[in-house]
Amino acid sequence: MSEILDKIPEYIDFGEKKTTADDEELEKIYLRENNYLAVIGYKTLEDFARFTSSEDLSMDTIEYVGKDRIYFTGLKRRAVYRRASEAILREYLSDYKCATPDHQCMDCYNCYTYGGTNLVKGETKSIRSRMKMTTSYSIQSSIDAIVDEDEFHIMVHRDLEMAQGDEGQEKGSIHTITLIKPNTVFPFIDIIFNPTKFDLAMYLETVERGDAEGYGSKGSLLGTMSTEILGIVDNLDITYKDLLKKIEVDEEGEVDASKIDEIIDMSISKEELEDLKHSLPKMIEKYEDEIYHDLN
Ligand SMILES: [Zn+2]
Repeated sequence: MSEILDKIPEYIDFGEKKTTADDEELEKIYLRENNYLAVIGYKTLEDFARFTSSEDLSMDTIEYVGKDRIYFTGLKRRAVYRRASEAILREYLSDYKCATPDHQCMDCYNCYTYGGTNLVKGETKSIRSRMKMTTSYSIQSSIDAIVDEDEFHIMVHRDLEMAQGDEGQEKGSIHTITLIKPNTVFPFIDIIFNPTKFDLAMYLETVERGDAEGYGSKGSLLGTMSTEILGIVDNLDITYKDLLKKIEVDEEGEVDASKIDEIIDMSISKEELEDLKHSLPKMIEKYEDEIYHDLN
């Protein structure tokens, strides 16, 4: 087994009560250590996307590392992951009632992982997220990544439905619809604090589901993605600047990340990651009581 996996526990029950040196009873989630794993990789858009949810439909772009780029916020990614993770847990236990955003139980695996604030038994309970998805930026410049008018016309003819927009409200005006093209590549760094093998297994399954569901604005089916993991590390020696400078994408959308492979130690093999993901059902069964806790 890889050194990284070797070092982390299989599961931690963050709801477990611990007594501190001052004789105070605290749930384990509040006794944070500074262990983390960073998952480094890139996401490629599989279809058209519109990330912005603002009224004016303007595109989220920012000047960063030498060009104007589309940015894809960590919060958006995390929101999709949280819902996907919740859906996975529900598949294994239909009675599981925890639901984002209005019915967070604050006592299940998802709540101890993605955090939240809620009124529980008459008092406010707050949990900080152990998942930090950082905001990522497109490799391609915004000009190359955003669909222009000519391309939009071709697209509309190919797929009339796309011009309808959400619930048919937007009548396909080329002036109000801005879309990001397929093959736009977003390197990402996702951080898991106090990581466990179960976290990683859930993360892998969650990312796969999130990608299939898509990251487009609410109500649209746009923005499905695929994810390539380049490394899982316990340091942050690699930055977004490295990723944006060293990952190359050609006109056909072929990604070349070999320069990252040279500087990152892929200490977990693809096979190990697959095995980990496949061990998820067994782990859910094994830790069922800790994952779901009190169902009422
Ligand atoms: Zn919950």
